[in-house]
Amino acid sequence: MIHHRHLSEGSRGIGMTSHGTRDRLVSRLREKGIRDERVLAAILNTPRHAFVDEALSSRAYEDTALPIGLGQTISQPWIVARMTEALLEGGSLDKVLEVGTGSGYQSAILAQLVKEVFTVERIKELLRSSRKLFHELRLYNIHARHADGHVGWTTQAPFDGILVTAAARRVPEELVAQLEIGGRLVMPLDRGSEQRLLAIRRTEDGQETEDLGAVVFVPMLSGLA
Ligand code: SAH
Repeated sequence: MIHHRHLSEGSRGIGMTSHGTRDRLVSRLREKGIRDERVLAAILNTPRHAFVDEALSSRAYEDTALPIGLGQTISQPWIVARMTEALLEGGSLDKVLEVGTGSGYQSAILAQLVKEVFTVERIKELLRSSRKLFHELRLYNIHARHADGHVGWTTQAPFDGILVTAAARRVPEELVAQLEIGGRLVMPLDRGSEQRLLAIRRTEDGQETEDLGAVVFVPMLSGLA
């Protein structure tokens, strides 16, 4: 399901919002193998410059991760697209949990493709600014909470998709437990020498794991900040 409406541009960086720049980003993502048209349409529709500091807005449509303060980064558009594509592979989703709200960009992409997005962030300051943006962009189907993602969001479980945007040393069992049967958990796993992006599908009697390749994410940390 795609909501065909344009997200309002907010008050920042109007000069950077030209559709030309965003078009070029979408072409690059296509070249790099992103095939899901729903995902590409959401990226075309989302003002990424609004999710980064004004000083970096001229770089917002490059396919790179950028700093968002407090030692964190907004993910590279390619990885946002790849993870969203992997999450949606089984069909459209109603209820998705994201761990690691960060800038809010990934949540904003998801909000245009699924019914309800639940997102948790351990750094209060990041949560405050992303919530403000969701409001400005009228993304009222995003519910954001200050919490440690290791425990998921018990009162809203089960989810038919969970996306983790920070690398953990092991797959949190609590998150698998909050998946619907048939639901998918997409997350980077830190294997020491490198991180691998995994898509884990919960089945009747366990789980199936698919390895989607090497990635680089900030670490998933414990507790609140
Ligand atoms: N999805 C974000 C990516 C931000 S980077 C975006 O599109 O911008 C990953 C984020 O995960 C950081 O903001 C970090 O603070 C957060 N994080 C790390 N460990 C976490 C945890 N245990 N619970 C919730 N958030 C966590």
